[in-house]
Amino acid sequence: MYADVIVDISSGQLDKTYQYAIPERLAEKAVVGAPVHIPFGKGKRKGYIVGLSEEPKLETERIRPLLAVEENGRVIESHLIELAYYIRENFGATMNAALHTVLPVRRTVRPAEKKTVVLSADADTCGDALAAAVKRGHAAKERLLRELLRERELSWNIVTDKLAVSSATIRRMEQSGLIQVKAQAGYRNPMEKLFQGGRAEEKAPKLNDQQRQIRDGVLADWSRGNYRTYLIYGITGSGKTEVYLSVIEEVVRQGRQVIMLIPEIALTYQTVLRFYHRFGGRVSILHSKMSQGERCDQSLRAERGEIDIMIGPRSALFTPFARLGLIILDEEHESSYKSEMPPKYHAREVAVQRAKLCGASVLLGSATPSLESYERALRGEYTLFRLDRRAVPGAVLPQVSVVDLRAELASGNRSIFSRELAKGIAGRLAAGEQTMLFLNRRGYAGFVSCRSCGFVMKCPHCDISMTEHGDGMLVCHYCGERQKKPDHCPSCGSKYIAGFGTGTQKIEEQVRKCFPGARVLRMDADTTRKKESYEEILSAFSCGEADILIGTQMIVKGHDFPAVTLVGILAADLSLNAGDYRAAERTFELLCQAAGRAGRGKKAGEVIIQTYQPEHYAVRTAAAQDYEGFFAKELAYRRALGYPPALHILAVLVLSAKEEAADSAAALLSTAAERFEAESGEKDMTLIGPVPASLAKAKDLFRRMLYFKHGNYNALAALKNFLEGYILYSEHFKNVSVQFDFNPMSGY
Ligand code: ADP
Ligand code: ZN
Ligand code: ZN
Repeated sequence: MYADVIVDISSGQLDKTYQYAIPERLAEKAVVGAPVHIPFGKGKRKGYIVGLSEEPKLETERIRPLLAVEENGRVIESHLIELAYYIRENFGATMNAALHTVLPVRRTVRPAEKKTVVLSADADTCGDALAAAVKRGHAAKERLLRELLRERELSWNIVTDKLAVSSATIRRMEQSGLIQVKAQAGYRNPMEKLFQGGRAEEKAPKLNDQQRQIRDGVLADWSRGNYRTYLIYGITGSGKTEVYLSVIEEVVRQGRQVIMLIPEIALTYQTVLRFYHRFGGRVSILHSKMSQGERCDQSLRAERGEIDIMIGPRSALFTPFARLGLIILDEEHESSYKSEMPPKYHAREVAVQRAKLCGASVLLGSATPSLESYERALRGEYTLFRLDRRAVPGAVLPQVSVVDLRAELASGNRSIFSRELAKGIAGRLAAGEQTMLFLNRRGYAGFVSCRSCGFVMKCPHCDISMTEHGDGMLVCHYCGERQKKPDHCPSCGSKYIAGFGTGTQKIEEQVRKCFPGARVLRMDADTTRKKESYEEILSAFSCGEADILIGTQMIVKGHDFPAVTLVGILAADLSLNAGDYRAAERTFELLCQAAGRAGRGKKAGEVIIQTYQPEHYAVRTAAAQDYEGFFAKELAYRRALGYPPALHILAVLVLSAKEEAADSAAALLSTAAERFEAESGEKDMTLIGPVPASLAKAKDLFRRMLYFKHGNYNALAALKNFLEGYILYSEHFKNVSVQFDFNPMSGY
């Protein structure tokens, strides 16, 4: 046997592996992730095993043997490498890609450091120095002094880049006492920057009986070393977060560490502030808007044990805590827990695996658990807990009504607001209460088509319709392509080419027209492009600076606006037509979450759902806040059609710039899969395809799909391994790339 060893994790060159022979006496201990001692050049080094193989890559006499496997060295790196291997095996992609996922930016970039240059001499001295610099022709020195006399403090980057002053000049000026270079180690904790206002110690509310039962149950198992996975199914506002906080408190008190995953979109000021008030500087966050250096800083602090709790989206799962005791996934049903890039891993499965490796419990929470998780909980694979009341005393679930838009149209109402919703908004405005209007879509007016011939404006790179924006441009939301909207149909020349449908911008116009006095805020991908604008809009609305907030799904996630008493869902069924097997589940989730925004405070809330399909079970059960009812119907549907969790799906996406290459590669994979079936004696496999993906072309690549179904995940993982091996040794995949996706979260 041979071992692939990476020598230097810290260099970031994870793909650089060296092969060593495994001597007989080490055979048992030499596993993936094991730290090993190896001969390296003339000396010895430490490395980690990242792969095992039977095949030598060189002549065998040139392969040197491992010297030793470290006995007690199964440190954090080992766990993360093992985790990478698990991801590789169960979700596809190369070991190298998996390692990059798991050992992300650690030490590959310099930690963020803020250096500034300030004047240290008095103004007169500096004035003299400036005059001297001018006289002697020291241009750089002159530039710097002039600028500093005006600004007093300049960042190092501006001095070296914009003013083009060399570090040698800076050093000389510092030595002569004119200036000083101040180094601050960035801001140490992103929380501190977020909450410069300081920290108010917050008292935890006394848990109610249901909450206490969960906390005690989880902690009783935990302190006995009985690490399990729990699912908390708790309606919105039932106090799940309060349960997390109390469990975390105890785990941290015992000297263990905690990873708390939340969807990026829910990583808001409000949520984070709650944690900061409870745990202060022992909490840190990671999120995608932090620079690589900032993320690296936090990773290092975690490794050094300077923090106990890391909050963040999917990638925070790989925080290098050495004493990890608990992983929490809030809103566990969220599709953002699945990576869209290879390896397309699901954070829930990887969390369970990481917990298993290091002895930790996993807590999943949701008001609308994913079908998969709830089914597992019912089977006993997870321990199920329920929270079925709102936690704030007196707070009740909102009143929900469903309005049939077809009936509205039939009775002559062509507005985007049903009469009931219009009346509701007017009433809230009069009462000084807030309204949220939710539309599951972005852009000005949907797609643009010709009313004479039916021609639809599509993106030239992607096979999808372009969306009209307010500035008269057409935009492809898939690749960003922008074009001017044509005056005449490119196909028939007719001038009746126009946008259809409704976007948030159009709703804003309508609201302003119908309710002239109302103060309106809009939140969607367009208004939140800037780094801070998301928080700005939310806090403005929270402070009562507007009466109506209009938005896409961004506004429905986990925010607490006590003054909102009406939530209007403008077209509930838009997401029902998404064309993949999770469309109903997604719609149910969105409707429940949106409804959950109403009546979070003392006043009762009302929800109005407008829809063209009032009879659809996702709409009906959401209106009744009936999760169990939805679950039963949806599970029956999944069983009847063979979708997860009844059967597992392996989706294989074939990409190529050449259409024929994509087609022939897909056909070859199909044949290879048949051979796998024959050789392995696997009988219960279903193959669908190859077919063009519903997005048949994107970013100038042709997309072909194959789907495999099987009741046993491991059978599909074995097939994936087989196909990966086949691709590696076939010459027909040179200009083709193949991606694997287990139980996909959306259509292709
Ligand atoms: P969830 O995470 O399920 O949406 P939260 O934990 O955010 O629920 O709780 C909703 C609201 O109820 C919050 O304002 C929280 O402070 C409050 N709350 C939670 N538990 C209690 C309790 N035991 N007593 C009083 N208020 C509570
Ligand atoms: Zn036309
Ligand atoms: Zn495009």
